[in-house]
Amino acid sequence: MKAIKIGVLTPRGPAIECLDVPPRKAAHFISAPLQASNRGQTVTSHLMPTFARVDLAFERGEGAWLVATTGERYLDFTSGVAVNALGHAHPRLVEALSAQAAKLLHVSNLFRIPESERLAERLCAQSFADYVFFANSGAEAMEGAIKTARKFHAVNGAPERVRIITFEGAFHGRTLATLAAGGQKKYLDGFGPVVEGFDQVPFGDIAAVKRVIGPATAAILVEPIQGEGGVRVASNQFLRELRELADANGALLIFDEVQTGMGRTGDLFAYQHTGVTPDIMALAKALGGGFPVGACLTTAEAGKGMTAGTHGSTFGGNPLAMAAGNAVLDVMLAPGFFERLRGISLLLKQRLAEMKDRHPGVIAEVRGEGLLIGLRSVVPNGQLVDALRAEKLLTVAAGDNVVRLLPPLIVEEADILEAVSRIDRAASAIERAASRPVEQETAR
Ligand code: PLP
Repeated sequence: MKAIKIGVLTPRGPAIECLDVPPRKAAHFISAPLQASNRGQTVTSHLMPTFARVDLAFERGEGAWLVATTGERYLDFTSGVAVNALGHAHPRLVEALSAQAAKLLHVSNLFRIPESERLAERLCAQSFADYVFFANSGAEAMEGAIKTARKFHAVNGAPERVRIITFEGAFHGRTLATLAAGGQKKYLDGFGPVVEGFDQVPFGDIAAVKRVIGPATAAILVEPIQGEGGVRVASNQFLRELRELADANGALLIFDEVQTGMGRTGDLFAYQHTGVTPDIMALAKALGGGFPVGACLTTAEAGKGMTAGTHGSTFGGNPLAMAAGNAVLDVMLAPGFFERLRGISLLLKQRLAEMKDRHPGVIAEVRGEGLLIGLRSVVPNGQLVDALRAEKLLTVAAGDNVVRLLPPLIVEEADILEAVSRIDRAASAIERAASRPVEQETAR
């Protein structure tokens, strides 16, 4: 059967190269992408259409800047959603990956992997942890954390302790267990029985935690700052009380630092400025600086059930991923890295506070820590993200009508100032658009 050529139309013309589509499939490609709600926004290809993608592609990047296939330059305050901590094409990371790729990409965990032993040793030296399990994503790191907590109780002779207390607005990943942990209906719908064992309570509500904690509780799981949930910061007091409740009830405390970890909030790990230490911590995102790698860190005590054969991952901790992780640490642990980061974060926050005062009809609140910053928007957050993108500043929407600013941690002062002036222009454009009908009426 002869293939027919079809393209996907957006207001700017064909969004992608024409696809060769067998006639029996053409109807899908014509109808699915052009539904009214998607028109002009969604680009359809042979990728499963699980993402509502913006019609924009990049071919290279440098530092905090991305260059689109059209040649246009964008200031990247998404960092691949808190991944590209070292920005794009960082020479240390490029060099480490190239050198490792030329030697050895992958060997099985059947054998010792010196690069992974080194990265584990460095992560433990910098944290509370004694052991690290390497995975490939945040969700997989979180699965490791949940399994570690349950297994701890099982080997302690309390296999009935399986329940994990989690918080509304949380996001822990898209696997079946991490979806259940996040408890968000929109992500769970249609995927069958929800994995049992999670008790969800409002974020920040210690009385609610006291009500659900009990003899079946294995752990309390919390993000020190809810990223996807809208840059909602847990107070130190709340985290302290969680620690006390966990201890008093023989439960473990798990921090999901997939988004907050690896420098994002101004310290290597967010827990380090809360005064509260977890038993288990999940990392991913910035750990590989753009190379997929996740990690579950644990104390020797909490991890004591995770013996040979209890858990595994084919790719987890392979030499290439570990070269990335070690290069990221080389940069972050260099003298002055965090001092500079904290200075630049303060500058951004101060300038954003000025923007909030200047544009109260657009920005309701500035929140977050380090370079995990949320602008709670007055207008729908998607509108603000679009207006910022029109100014060639890339940002990410989050829950609670928030727009996240996640610049790379190596962002320069000049980039911060440039971003703020783009925010100023975008907010002014929104204000102008909002006032237009009134002006027209007055003119009449
Ligand atoms: N945990 C948190 C706090 C996250 O922000 C995310 C992703 O956004 C995840 C877990 C899941 O990570 P991944 O998408 O790498 O599976």
